[in-house]
Amino acid sequence: MTDQRIHNFNAGPAALPLKVLENIQASFLNFNGSGMSITEISHRSSYFDDVINDAVSRTKRLLKLDDRFHVLFLQGGASLQFAMIPMNFLGSEDTADYVNTGTWSTKAIKEAKIQNKNYRVAASSEDRDFSYIPKDIEFSKDAAYVHLTSNNTIKGTQFHEFPDTKGVPIVCDMSSDIFSRPLDMEKFGMIYAGAQKNLGPSGTCMVILRQDMLNMANENLPSMLKYATYASKNSMYNTPPCFGIYTIDLVLKWIEEDIGGLEKMEAYNIEKAGLLYDFIESSDFYNTTAREDSRSLMNVTFRLPNEDLEKLFITKATQNGLGGLKGHRSVGGCRASIYNAATMEGMKALVQFMESFEKENK
Ligand code: PMP
Repeated sequence: MTDQRIHNFNAGPAALPLKVLENIQASFLNFNGSGMSITEISHRSSYFDDVINDAVSRTKRLLKLDDRFHVLFLQGGASLQFAMIPMNFLGSEDTADYVNTGTWSTKAIKEAKIQNKNYRVAASSEDRDFSYIPKDIEFSKDAAYVHLTSNNTIKGTQFHEFPDTKGVPIVCDMSSDIFSRPLDMEKFGMIYAGAQKNLGPSGTCMVILRQDMLNMANENLPSMLKYATYASKNSMYNTPPCFGIYTIDLVLKWIEEDIGGLEKMEAYNIEKAGLLYDFIESSDFYNTTAREDSRSLMNVTFRLPNEDLEKLFITKATQNGLGGLKGHRSVGGCRASIYNAATMEGMKALVQFMESFEKENK
């Protein structure tokens, strides 16, 4: 079966480590001697307690989180967080700074606007079609938070350093690069990520939230829209996305035990992306769309000389076992999403294919 698997460059849902999938398969009918599948076990059982607690502990170890941080699992994707963040953290006297680096930041801003909250767009890269990450941003000193999107999945740009916000907590959408590198957690009041790129299946959103953010959160909200509900019940106020949390736990175990932690994960990601960017640099047939200093290590966006060639490229790539290389429908072109689970073997196969396609079609 595994020899029929392709090299998967999908943007999300995306490739998961093969070892994780095999582990799920092997234990799917009888989880830990329970005689039940993980999809059949009560979330109130000790079996599931062990899973969720292990996922929380691994997250804390990998990111070196101290006791101020809560690790939560929600549903509704990263998109629900766009709405919950202003709902929870912006009272009528408060304001927030947003940095607009593409579609997902724009959507986050839209949700603050819909709720009539006070916010300011402190910087934007819209002037150049979101092809770069703004630098030297002046943030308001009195903002409740600064919202950033660390990696822009569609445009292929990424913050390589996080700005100095002079103590204002960063609230960061890390949907497409969480656990891809170590982080200085002192800067962050909250991190969130839809699981379906670097963590597991869709349907679960990880939220890492600092206690002081929780202290200032609005209490007068429906239970399911309040972070306090999740923090006080270990994410089990209602039935959590059990299968998603279980898969996340296995992915985190893989990062800790097979890869060896986030420093090693980052080194591997730099090596993988480097191979592809170096090749594209050396070619005058392919061109990256992101500015060099802002290029993402997770989503490599590139163009060919014309759209007909791009179509042919994607068709031929698929025939050659290289899937998911079509750019996002809003921008066109090509995109290789190379999250943590992308393999060096897959990167080499892609570069080899790109070389021969160039020779045949130049
Ligand atoms: N933020 C980023 C950076 C994304 O890439 C995506 C999904 N592609 C989202 C948010 C939206 O995530 P979800 O579908 O989980 O709501």
